[in-house]
Amino acid sequence: MVFSRFKNWIKLYLQLGIVKHKDHEINQQIFVSNLFSLIGYTITFAMALSAAIRGNTILAISLFSASLLFFISHQIHRFGNLQNSHKISARIVLFSLLTLMLYLVYTGGHANTGPLWMYIVPPVAFFFGGLRKGLRSLGLFIVIVGTMLFYPDDALLNAEYSFEFKSRLIYSFLTVTLLFGFYEYSRQKSFKSIQDLSDKFERQAMLDPLTHLPNRRAMRDYLEHEYARAQRSKLDMSVLLCDIDHFKQINDKYGHDGGDFVLQKLADLFENTLRKQDKISRWGGEEFLFLLPETSGFEAYTLAEKIRTKVAETEFVYANQSIKITLSLGVKEVSPESPIDKAINLADHFLYQAKENGRNRTMPDKETLGAG
Ligand code: GH3
Ligand code: MG
Ligand code: MG
Repeated sequence: MVFSRFKNWIKLYLQLGIVKHKDHEINQQIFVSNLFSLIGYTITFAMALSAAIRGNTILAISLFSASLLFFISHQIHRFGNLQNSHKISARIVLFSLLTLMLYLVYTGGHANTGPLWMYIVPPVAFFFGGLRKGLRSLGLFIVIVGTMLFYPDDALLNAEYSFEFKSRLIYSFLTVTLLFGFYEYSRQKSFKSIQDLSDKFERQAMLDPLTHLPNRRAMRDYLEHEYARAQRSKLDMSVLLCDIDHFKQINDKYGHDGGDFVLQKLADLFENTLRKQDKISRWGGEEFLFLLPETSGFEAYTLAEKIRTKVAETEFVYANQSIKITLSLGVKEVSPESPIDKAINLADHFLYQAKENGRNRTMPDKETLGAG
């Protein structure tokens, strides 16, 4: 009972400031910074108590102050309206830690063991600052500690260390810094290559491998995005669905590779004919869906006719044979009365009508659109 309550308290403590919509890396940093603050303020608090009991008032006060700073670095997340609270909190943790370490080096802490805590600094500095900033803070820290340790006549020290202790302290600290730096470097490298790989897969998952056009999944995203924009800005938007006529016969006559060749060349033709803002996708086998922003139903019809005539006039030369194809097209304006799915269904219905009426045509035709 007590244990589970304690567990819940720890969980709440460590998760303070973590918000789902934030970046995963940032949330992880907040989590670790909370962990640091918890460990930091309990240890410094215990050390402060012990220093107070030993009668070392100055050490006790310094440790209490550090403990308070660690505590504040955590409480900062309570101010939900603070932008970048994680950065402020990380800076407080690092700053308190560095100052505390300098203080421990200066005074020697308890029985001259203070400097031993210095080894905590490199991992913390790299974790919160990354490689560059981490190296910068550590470089500065080493210069300050080095100056304090080797300043003539120990004028910058309140404790007495042997020369051997000082030099080994600096050497070993440098070694630990380099090792952690190297670790951080390789961690960043693997993180980047994983990210690149994941970006690549993401792009691949959105592209049709044959035509390199966006696939149905990618088009769904574009449609949602563009429809929201059109609604906001009160702009027209249309969809155009087209299907190759008697494509089965192309496959039968020129083989599947011939069919693939035609699909690829047709995709190129579409890309060269449409405007930059239009999106073309491979919606199905030999079916393509176009998203036409800032285009009324009538303008979409005109564009569809332009594409239809161009395709009908084009000769696709495959293995020294000229292949001619035609398209049937269905257009529909997208509007609040017929939003995306309804508009696509209607375009499909019009495409079917175009097939029924003899193929190589666009529906609704000019007359119907004019009447409507
Ligand atoms: P319609 O005018 O009614 O559209 O007739 P169609 O022959 O074009 O339509 P149907 O749906 O009967 O056939 C479509 C053909 O498209 C059948 C299928 O093998 C072919 N197809 C679909 N995807 C690909 C592809 O990636 N490559 C090739 N070569 N053919 C494909
Ligand atoms: Mg077809
Ligand atoms: Mg089809």
